[in-house]
Amino acid sequence: MPKKLVLVVVDGMTPAAFERAVEGDRAPALAFLAAHGSYRGATSVFPSLTPVCLSSIVTGAGPDVHRIPSLVWWHRRERRLVEYGSSFAALRAAGMAQSIADTIFNMNERHLGPEAVTVYEALEDAGLVAAAVNITCYRGRRRHQPTLPWVTRAAYGPTRFFYYSLFESDPTGAPLAVRNRAAGSVDAYAAAVGRWLVTRDGFDFLAYYLSDFDYVSHARGPEGAEDVALERVDAAIAALLEAAGGPDEFLERYAVILHSDHGQTAVERVARLQDAFADLDGRVVVTASNRAGQVYLLPGAGLDAGELARRLDGEPAVETTLRREGEEAVARREGEELRFRPAGDGWETSGDASLLDHPDVLRRAWSALANPNAGELLVSAADGWELADLGGRHHAGGGSHGSLAAGDSVVPMLSIGIEAELARITDVMPAALAHFGVEPPPYVKARARVR
Ligand SMILES: [Zn+2]
Repeated sequence: MPKKLVLVVVDGMTPAAFERAVEGDRAPALAFLAAHGSYRGATSVFPSLTPVCLSSIVTGAGPDVHRIPSLVWWHRRERRLVEYGSSFAALRAAGMAQSIADTIFNMNERHLGPEAVTVYEALEDAGLVAAAVNITCYRGRRRHQPTLPWVTRAAYGPTRFFYYSLFESDPTGAPLAVRNRAAGSVDAYAAAVGRWLVTRDGFDFLAYYLSDFDYVSHARGPEGAEDVALERVDAAIAALLEAAGGPDEFLERYAVILHSDHGQTAVERVARLQDAFADLDGRVVVTASNRAGQVYLLPGAGLDAGELARRLDGEPAVETTLRREGEEAVARREGEELRFRPAGDGWETSGDASLLDHPDVLRRAWSALANPNAGELLVSAADGWELADLGGRHHAGGGSHGSLAAGDSVVPMLSIGIEAELARITDVMPAALAHFGVEPPPYVKARARVR
């Protein structure tokens, strides 16, 4: 039997922050793991926003298959906004009760694509036991009743399922997750549950998601996050090592993949993407959050995505727009365009090649545009800029992410005791399946042909 596998996802940790952490002396658990593993950078998906990224990590699919397009999007069939938590004000603007239902339940039960297979579904169908702690993409086969008596809706997760104290498959005695977010109570909850799970060796595969680093990085910027959040991240990882009886004992029992879902870059300025389309009220819906935006054409709008793109020429907050034109995709930047489409085992391109400077840009852009829930025009923000959310909130003066740019899109990727290439965050799920000898879903095999 292969070793059991622990997947650690540290939200929003940049490669630079990871490298500083393992070279310094403030993160001994991370440093221990780094000393025993192989390390490289890997690329995220577009938009590089957490619900999109975590869905990609857990399903091994891009947004074309898993269908989660962003933190905020327009639901064409239900003709309403879906908001997964850009900010409290954005949740309120989209309707608090609906947004909470979308974030906790509908994202997994209704929005996640039916063709997408989660790592928990695949492994548990093969007879293994999967565990998930706090990760927002959790869809599994097992019905779980919430812990709060006034919440009656059940959720379907893996056998061992822990979600911010709201779902707990087992009584672990962990403190409430949400009692003090700013002080790190969410990761403290994860650590308590993780300690319980490792102590009992209660899984074959564990997805262990730590969200506090991103939270701090938004407030303080990617350089300042470590001062507050690094020790907390390390303590949450150390809790797993200690529960196994020590670091060496931990690695005797478990293979490890540790990475982040996206990067972060410093933002100083903020724009409202809606302003460029203010005269099109009733013909388009504009959604934006962090460093990515979308424009949806409503039925009978009487204009096309190319016209939407040209409106953003000269807009300082916008770096690149993406759209489909027939069989091709078009990336536009400052009036210059690059056309591209998959051809054979690579890509056919024509036009402005300078648009190719973002990591893995063709594959990421194509997948984002092929998502049936995506807008007709996708927007990637310029360096230093953020796009205000539905509630007008932003992180100017701190950090953000979501764009095609390398700073938002390249993540640290560490692996120990598992053979895999892991060049992209979508490689993690197929690597986990291969580790246990489980066949990948068809979309993973189809994608492997395209460079
Ligand atoms: Zn974030």
